[in-house]
Amino acid sequence: MKVSLQDLYLRHALLVFVGVSVVAISLALLTTWELVSRTTRESVVSSTAAANLAITEIFASEKWHDIKPLLPQGNATPDIARNNPHVIAIDNLVREFSRNTDVVKVKSFDLWGLTLYSSEARQIGEDKSQTSGYVSARAGQSVSELTFRDSFKSFQGEVHDRNLVSSYVPVVLGGHLEGIVEIYTDRTSEIASTEQRLSDLLLRLVPIFTVLFLVLLLSFWQTERARVRHEASLLSLAGENRVAREAAEQANTTKSQFLATMSHEIRTPMNGVIGMANLLLDTSLAPEQRDYAHNIAASGESLLAIINDILDLSKIEAGRMEFESKPFSLVETANAIQTLLDVRVQEKGIKLVLDLDPHVDGTFMGDGLRVRQILLNLAGNAVKFTDQGDVRICIALAETGVRFEVRDTGIGIPADAVERLFASFSQVDSSMTRRFGGTGLGLAISKRLTEGMGGVIGVESSEGQGSCFWFQLPLRKTVASVPSDGIATIEKTIETSSAPGTRAAPSTAHILLVEDHPVNQKLALALLSRLGYVADLAVNGRLAVEAASAKPYDLILMDMQMPEMDGVEAAHLIRSAQGPNQHTYIIALTANAMQSDKEACIAAGMNDFLSKPFNRESLAQCISNGLEHKAIQGSAATSPRSV
Ligand code: ADP
Repeated sequence: MKVSLQDLYLRHALLVFVGVSVVAISLALLTTWELVSRTTRESVVSSTAAANLAITEIFASEKWHDIKPLLPQGNATPDIARNNPHVIAIDNLVREFSRNTDVVKVKSFDLWGLTLYSSEARQIGEDKSQTSGYVSARAGQSVSELTFRDSFKSFQGEVHDRNLVSSYVPVVLGGHLEGIVEIYTDRTSEIASTEQRLSDLLLRLVPIFTVLFLVLLLSFWQTERARVRHEASLLSLAGENRVAREAAEQANTTKSQFLATMSHEIRTPMNGVIGMANLLLDTSLAPEQRDYAHNIAASGESLLAIINDILDLSKIEAGRMEFESKPFSLVETANAIQTLLDVRVQEKGIKLVLDLDPHVDGTFMGDGLRVRQILLNLAGNAVKFTDQGDVRICIALAETGVRFEVRDTGIGIPADAVERLFASFSQVDSSMTRRFGGTGLGLAISKRLTEGMGGVIGVESSEGQGSCFWFQLPLRKTVASVPSDGIATIEKTIETSSAPGTRAAPSTAHILLVEDHPVNQKLALALLSRLGYVADLAVNGRLAVEAASAKPYDLILMDMQMPEMDGVEAAHLIRSAQGPNQHTYIIALTANAMQSDKEACIAAGMNDFLSKPFNRESLAQCISNGLEHKAIQGSAATSPRSV
C-alpha cells in the first residue's frame, strides 16, 4: 500500500501532538504540585515569622528589663558567657514566658554575635556573628526559615522528627538595638496537616488529569481511524480511476490504430484512383469525358487530404508522430505557400501578402514539412474565410524562436466559439460547413503539431472584422557551412534537387519495378513509360531478388508491403548479395508514411523514400535524383583511370 507524503506528515503530526500533550499534562501536574506545596510551606513560614516577631516584641517589652541585667555586659568573652551565674534565673524567666506559646527554644546574642543565652545550655558561648540570620537581624531585618530536624533539644527535652521555624529577631527598645533573639517554633503539626491537604489535592488532580489524558488518547485514536478510513477510500478511488483511465487509454489507442490502419488501406487504392484519373486526362477525351475525369481526380485529391488529416491526428493521438530536425528555409516555405494558394486567391479577388522579417533569411533547424503544414492550414483557412481585403503572413524572430502570424480581413470568429476552435471536428457552425466545406480537423492538428514541436498556438479575432491566427516555435537558426565556391551547402542541395521531372531521362535507363498491387502496377508502369523509362516488373520481394541477380538495372522501385517477401528484406538481400545490383539506387514506395518505416528502409540499404499516392512529378523527381546519383558515382569510379 502506498503511503503519500501528506499522510506521513499527518501521522507524524498526530504522534507529535499526542507526545507533546502527554508531556504538557505531566508537566502541568508536577508544576501544580510543586507550586501548591511551595506556596503552602511559604505561607506556614511567613505566618510563623509574623507570630515570632510579635512574640519577640512582647518578650522585649515584658521580660527584657528583667533579663538584660542578668546577661554579661559589654563585649563579653565566650568564657564569661558560659560562666554566667545567672543562667538558671534567665532560663526560668524564658521558660515562664514561653509556657503558653508554641515556642520550643530561645537563644539570645549580644551585638557581636556571641551566644549569651540558650535554653540548650551547651550552646552558650558559641560565635554566631557569621550566620546569615544573625547578620540580617543585626542590620534590623528579622528572618525566618523552615528546617526539618531528626532530633532536637526543646524546653521539654529531646524531641524527634520536627519541622521547626527559626526566626532571628532584633530586640529594639527606645529606638536602640539591645540584642538579637532567636526563637524556634514547632510547626510539625501544621506542616503535617498541609501535606495531608496536598495529598488530598493530588488525589483529586490525578483522576482529572487521567481523564484529560484518556480523552486525548481517544480523540487521537478516532482521528487516526478516520484518517485510515479516508486513506482506504482514496486508494480504492484511485484504483477505480486507474482502471477507468487505462480502459479509456486502451480505447483511444485502439481507435487511433484503427484509424491509422484504415487510412493506410485507403491510401493504396487512392493511389490508383488519382493516378489512373491523371493518366486518363493525358489521353484524348471528349470535353464531357475530360470534365468527368477531372472531377474524379479532384474528388480523389480532396478525399486524400481528409485521409491525410485523419492519419496525422491518429498518429498524434497514438503518440506515434515523429518530428525531424533538419535545416530548412522559412522564406522558401512562405513562398511555396503563396504559390500554392495563388489560384484560390486570384479566384476570390483578394490579396495574399508576405511580411517577412529580414532576420528569418537563411536556414533554421526543425521539421520544415510540419511547419509548412501548419502555416498552409492557417493561411488556407484565412483565404477560405475571407471574401474581400487581404491575407497577410508575417514571420519574425521572437524571444523564444520564431513567431508566425496569419492575419485576415474575413468573417472573424464569435468570442464564444474561440475556446473550442482547436478541438477535433470543431467548426464555428454547421451552416459554415456547407458554405465553406472542411472537416474541422485542421486547427486541431495544427495545435498538436505546434505543441509536439515545443511551441504554442492561439488566435485573436473579432466577428465581422477578421482574425489573427498565430503560433510560435522554438526554432534556432543554423550556422550554414560555406564551402570554397561561396555557396552554402544547404542552398546548393536545394538547387540541385529542384526542377522536378525536367531532366531528360537517359535513353538506356532500365528500371526494376517491384509492386504487388495490380492497379498500382499498371499505374506505375504507365507513368514510367510516359517518362521514357524501360521497366521490368517483379510482383513480390522474392521475385525482385531473383530479377536483380539476373541482370543489372539503373534503378529499383521497391514496394514495402508485399506477400512472400517484403521490400525491406528484398533490399537487404540485394545489397548483401555480390550480384549486378549490389550498388543500384533503390527507392522505397509505400503508403505507410511513418518515420520509423523510413528508417527501416535506410537501414536495409535503400536510398530514397516515396510516399503513396505519388504523382508523375514526384516520381520523376525521385528517379531523376537516383540516376544523377548513379552518374556521379560512375564518374567518381572512372576518374582515377582517366588520369
Ligand atoms: P476546417 O477549416 O477544415 O473546417 P479547421 O480546424 O481548420 O477545420 O477550422 C475549424 C473552424 O474554425 C472552421 O470551420 C471555421 O469555422 C473556423 N475558422 C478557422 N480559421 C478561420 C478564419 N481565418 N476565419 C474565420 N473562421 C475560421
